[in-house]
Parts: sequence; structure tokens; C-alpha cells
Amino acid sequence: MKVPFVSFLPMEKEFGDELKNAFNRVLSKSWYIEGDEDKNFEKNFSEYCETNYCIGVGNGLDALMLSLKALGLKSGDEVIIPSNTFIATALAVTYTGATPVFAEPDINTFNINPTNIKGAITEKTKAIIPVHLYGQPCDMDIVLKIAKEYNLKIVEDCAQAHGATYKGKKVGSFGDAAGFSFYPGKNLGALGDAGAVVTNNKELADKIRALKNYGSDYKYHHIYKGNNSRLDEIQAAFLSVKLKYIEKINNDRRRIANRYNENITNPKIITPKVINDCIPVWHVYGIRCNERDELEEYLSGKGIYTNKHYPIPLHLQECYKDLGISKGSLPIAEKISDTELSLPLYYGMKEEEIAFVIDAINEF
Ligand SMILES: *Cc1c(COP(=O)(O)O)cnc(C)c1O
Repeated sequence: MKVPFVSFLPMEKEFGDELKNAFNRVLSKSWYIEGDEDKNFEKNFSEYCETNYCIGVGNGLDALMLSLKALGLKSGDEVIIPSNTFIATALAVTYTGATPVFAEPDINTFNINPTNIKGAITEKTKAIIPVHLYGQPCDMDIVLKIAKEYNLKIVEDCAQAHGATYKGKKVGSFGDAAGFSFYPGKNLGALGDAGAVVTNNKELADKIRALKNYGSDYKYHHIYKGNNSRLDEIQAAFLSVKLKYIEKINNDRRRIANRYNENITNPKIITPKVINDCIPVWHVYGIRCNERDELEEYLSGKGIYTNKHYPIPLHLQECYKDLGISKGSLPIAEKISDTELSLPLYYGMKEEEIAFVIDAINEF
């Protein structure tokens, strides 16, 4: 048996006809950018996130970057981000001119450890980006408390956590703004690149709406030196189809994660810990193992394909050499990089595939 890391086939089979209808609808309207599809999706997605406003943008990186820009982040400022995340979180900060400052994660949840945020705060700190990594919400009560105490802005990185809840409330509804990615492999995925910002702040929403369209408030009038980062009508139409099924999609991911949680019993494997009062959406199911590379090779020998999130921590990436953070400085992020392995998990994964993965791991 072969088990891919991810497969879109079950979704294409189930939603394919509706996606084709969405394509035909857009084609028949001959309107491709900033139209009804965009508005309709924005309305439904802000409702889904329990926020007042949603602004469709080109991708998740821009969603974060434009949020930070709109909040006034600039050169000389510092933004605290987790040391274990996808590079987009850091680049969003860099593109505003500000500097990313890393706070170490909790080794068991993989998420930023709120107690490490305080130690990273300086006079230059203006904002925190809590990342709900792998689909698990951060401990937002503590993050909110610290932000309030030090007067810091919060931009949530929800790129991996569409629909996850913390104390019954959706992620994305806690901070000043939140960035989502609809990259095809995300829990809510377009058929190409797309993203969105959600916020409850009208002024901020208006500013982001201008910033993503050349800084324009009305046609050929530019109040900011903005970007071009609009959500295509065709992607908005596809996303509206998928949004109808997002709970079904997330529940299916939970079914698979629960099977892994309950049945992986090999003492060499550490399964992910979930904090109290939160419901994750399992964008990634990451286990840890001291013999990670051997496990990866063993599984691929059996036809089971895995991934690493992420093989090189941000502070050791070539492009962030200028930060001057040496190996050994962020030991928890480095340990996660050295030991984490992401198991196959995708909508429609078959029971026999799940069982095959579990048995293989328990026999390792
Ligand atoms: C995917 C991702 C992003 C960026 O999204 P894109 O749509 O690829 O630009 C940002 N942060 C995290 C944590 C991500 O996983």
C-alpha cells in the first residue's frame, strides 16, 4: 500500500462538480477581480470567524504583512514571533521594515510558550504574532494579558488554523487583526494562491482594503503607497464552495488525528499535546522521535510519505544570517527541527491507510 503525505483526490471527487459550476458562473459574468464573488466570500468568512470584517488578499504572507503595515509597523520596530513557524511569519515582519524577534515554543504543543514572550520584549517591541501552528490554538489568555500590559498589538497567524477554537471562540477573533492563507494545502484551500485578513476594527479594515489595492480608496486616488494583493473572483468562488464544507473537512482531520492519538503506542514516539479548552483543526499532525531520520526512511520504505515542519529553524536560514543568531541560541526550535515528523493526514484518508500508518509506526 502507498500512503501519500497529502492527496486532493477525495475532495476533487466530492466537490468537483460544484467547483466546475463556480468556474462557469465566474466565466459567464466576465468579471474577474473585486466583484460579487469576493464580497460574498468576505461576508461569509468574517461570519465564520466571528469577526466584523474580512478583506480578501492575494495570499497569507500579504495578509500578515498588510495587517502589520496598517498597524503602523516600520523600520526600527520589533515584532515577537515564535522561533518555530513557517518563514512567512518572519518575512511579513521583515517586509514592513521591522525586525522579527523570536520567542521559544513549548516542546510539547509546538506553539509559542507565552512565558517566553516577556523575555523577548524590549523598548522597541510593538507587536506579537501568535501563530496557531499545525492547527492548534495558542494560549491566547496569556498572550492577550501580556499585550495589554505592554501595550502591544496582536496579529494572529491563522494560516494553519481555519476554524480552530480557544475557549469556544474562533481563532482570528482575538487579536487586532488575523491573517489567513488559502494556499491549496491549507484546511480551507483555494485552487491557487489566496488569503484574507479578518478584524473587528473598521478603521484598520478600511486601511487594509486600500493597502491591498495600490493604496487606493477610490479609483485612481491613492492615499498610501500600497501593494497589489487582491483576491481573484475565481478563487473567491472556489473558496465559497469549500467554505460550506469546512466543518466537515476539519472534522475529518480530527477523526484521523484522534486515531493517531489513541493508537500510536510506540514508546519511541511522542504524540502532540493539546492544551485545555481548545479544539485544534490538525493542519499538521506532528510527532517527535529521537531517531526521526531513521523513522522517515523506514516509513518511506513501506510506501508511507511524511514531511518535516520545519527542517531548518528560521534563525538558521541563510536569508536571516543578518540577525546574527547562532546555532544553539534557540534550543527548543532546533530540537523540534531535529525530531519532528509530520504524518499523512488529509480529507478522505481511508481507514485502512490510517491503520497501515499506525501499525508501521508501532512496529518501528
Ligand atoms: C502557509 C503559511 C503562511 C503563508 O501563507 P501563503 O498563502 O503561502 O502566503 C503564513 N504562516 C503560516 C504559519 C503558514 O503555514
